[in-house]
Amino acid sequence: MAKMSWAAGTQCVAKGDHKKPKAGELAYHKGDILTVVDTSARKGYCMARHNATGAEGLINLSSVREREALRVDPSLSLMPWFHGKISGPEAVGKLLPAEDGLFLVRESIRHPGDYVLCVSVSGDVIHYRVIYKDNKLTIDNTQYFYNLIDMIEFYSKNKGSIATTLLKPKPKQGAKSAELELSKAGWLLDITKLTLGENIGEGEFGAVHEGQYMGQRVAVKTIKCDVTAQAFLQETTVMTKLQHKNLVRLLGVILHKGLLIVTELMSKGNLVNFLRTRGRSVVKSAQLLRFSLDVCEGMEYLESKKLVHRDLAARNVLVSDDGVAKVSDFGLTKVDSKAPDNAKLPVKWTAPEALKKEKFSTKSDVWSYGVLLWEIFSYGRQPYPKMSLVEVKERVQVGYRMDAPEDCAPAVYAIMRMCWEPEPRKRPAFHKLREKLEREVGASSPAPGSQRRGGVRSASGC
Ligand code: ADP
Repeated sequence: MAKMSWAAGTQCVAKGDHKKPKAGELAYHKGDILTVVDTSARKGYCMARHNATGAEGLINLSSVREREALRVDPSLSLMPWFHGKISGPEAVGKLLPAEDGLFLVRESIRHPGDYVLCVSVSGDVIHYRVIYKDNKLTIDNTQYFYNLIDMIEFYSKNKGSIATTLLKPKPKQGAKSAELELSKAGWLLDITKLTLGENIGEGEFGAVHEGQYMGQRVAVKTIKCDVTAQAFLQETTVMTKLQHKNLVRLLGVILHKGLLIVTELMSKGNLVNFLRTRGRSVVKSAQLLRFSLDVCEGMEYLESKKLVHRDLAARNVLVSDDGVAKVSDFGLTKVDSKAPDNAKLPVKWTAPEALKKEKFSTKSDVWSYGVLLWEIFSYGRQPYPKMSLVEVKERVQVGYRMDAPEDCAPAVYAIMRMCWEPEPRKRPAFHKLREKLEREVGASSPAPGSQRRGGVRSASGC
């Protein structure tokens, strides 16, 4: 049953085609994503915007469903057909009852590290050894693949030199197909509608490209390693829950040669580079305050969802075309407070209690936010300049704190110091920080009538 009062901003998925709209109605295809803009239209209808085309019109609420968030679920797998180390006979047992094209992938017991593709055909099971050569995988020395996902994708569409195309995966017990779940919830996008453009960034695990999806400019993070892709599924499921103007929005994912994560395009790149390349002659302190407030509002939303970011830093804040700062990189975001791996922690941004006792909380995010404020007001300088990580860890623990950045207003520096209270309880919550910053913005706001983002846009000329 359709809910009859969806809030503005709700994302929904069209259940079918609506190709011949009446006057004032919106046209769409099955699977298109639409955003509710106004709910006060006539009963059973609302005004909606087509995410891809930007067109607006009335939609019948019974012909759409709300796009659901995915639950973080460790059994969700990009490779549900991967059974790990099982023997040949065990694999044969799992492919019963026989069915042409039923398949699984296992790791060879005799040759550890090698994979075997097992396919049921004409009542038999054929075992194809997958050879690892020059960083690629191959069965026949003709077709080469980046990873298993890529290989399965190929043989599901082409027979190539194997006996049958792969028709039906045999899932490992307990594994749930991420592809199926993403698709059911409306987060799986259509590769044929995506055009990949220039490389605009290099992440730790793969390149980020600019692109177009159904006419909308997007950013695409490409993850080619299947194990990493599986790890990124966590980030993606977290992102399906988040909708806020100051968080980079996930548009959906595509499974192709690995995982493609499609988000809104933040054309001015990350905040560190933004500030470094422009500097104080271009970006004025009122704009720095706006960025600080943007990030704070995004974090207040995360705080309200009881989510801890754990990696808040200016490098993980991106700037949109119209100069709005949004938090990104939710890879480490979790509800619980224990960190599994502290070797990778960003020491200069991490609160002492998180470094020492792995105690992460919204209040450890507040500490990081203080460091981020310092980065913003020093125009993208590396925090604790000239100090090594070991030195930072030791000295901060015994009370050392960074000085105010050059020309930073004392009230702003006072906010940083509050964020760096040794006792997490004494640090202000994000909603309190927002109030403080709003006061600062009010105090430094330009004359009425001037545009909020106008300063940066015209001065930077981009
Ligand atoms: P990682 O977390 O692996 O370091 P990121 O997601 O931070 O990778 O991406 C690396 C860089 O790519 C960013 O610093 C930024 O410059 C660029 N980038 C990432 N996402 C976007 C986006 N949505 N819009 C524009 N640029 C982006």
